[in-house]
Amino acid sequence: LMQLSIPLNFIGFVYREIRQGLADIEQMFDLLDVQAEVQDAPDAQPLKVSDGVIRFENVKFAYDPKRPILKGIGFEVPAGKTVAIVGPSGAGKSTISRLLYRFYDVQEGRITVDGQDVRDITQKSLRAAIGMVPQDTVLFNDTIAYNIRYGRTGASEEEVRKAAEMAQIGDFIKTLPEGYDSMVGERGLKLSGGEKQRVAIARTILKAPPILILDEATSALDTATEQEIQAALDFVSEGRTTLVIAHRLSTVINADEIIVLRDGEIQERGTHGELLNQRGLYASMWDRQREATEVQARLQSMRE
Ligand code: ATP
Repeated sequence: LMQLSIPLNFIGFVYREIRQGLADIEQMFDLLDVQAEVQDAPDAQPLKVSDGVIRFENVKFAYDPKRPILKGIGFEVPAGKTVAIVGPSGAGKSTISRLLYRFYDVQEGRITVDGQDVRDITQKSLRAAIGMVPQDTVLFNDTIAYNIRYGRTGASEEEVRKAAEMAQIGDFIKTLPEGYDSMVGERGLKLSGGEKQRVAIARTILKAPPILILDEATSALDTATEQEIQAALDFVSEGRTTLVIAHRLSTVINADEIIVLRDGEIQERGTHGELLNQRGLYASMWDRQREATEVQARLQSMRE
């Protein structure tokens, strides 16, 4: 067994290294403004944001032509409102956020921001208007202050500190021996998933974009962390057009509309209350998650 477990450990190590490497490359593209999959149209114009309305119209998309992922999706996120996308794993939820950020182009239909097709505007202006809080934030091997300031490089120390507090990570940073100068990332202090997500939220608060994409982490969080993150998200999404790729119940309950995606199609849509009344897929997902949350809460209270 020993003989087998060493290579398996090694494969795990290599896998993690490659994953980190890929994430670094993605950020490099972002930093160097290198275009990966898509190119600006020759006559691309900068996006003119008025209200920040997002529309998906009959969007069809496949990474591989043989396997359609989105099969004709239509919805609108009105100015300043929040729409949450939920659904089983692999349904195509994160793909929707990647298409809005224009990592890929749709094969049919269109995506518009304030009436402008994302293919007609410069990627730079599109991405400047969108704040993305990803599932798994990659931190630079630098100080935590640097990592937050990345949202707006000109931000003052005071602004960085305020953003950290709004994102509910300020108290945690104060407990670190070197405070805001503590080194984080692969070669420094390792932050938990919830802490990294709050760093990403602090960055986004500094960036102050009109449009927000929140891609929630799937990993289970304890109740206190979940509440802190929820408070941070509520703060950052206030008054901004927000698309949430949701895995947790707390974010969807207050969404103006919930879209239930299954196999690349919209199966149900409505508010939390409306969907519960339908007793369909959403209601059964909700029941299952509530049971899981209750079990977790019971286990936690037994430990305390
Ligand atoms: P989860 O809840 O597990 O995050 P999801 O609903 O967000 O799932 P997506 O990440 O949108 O799902 O993926 C939808 C499908 O597209 C999956 O079957 C996935 O394997 C496939 N897919 C995702 N990214 C790529 C890619 N870069 N190349 C090829 N296929 C991909």
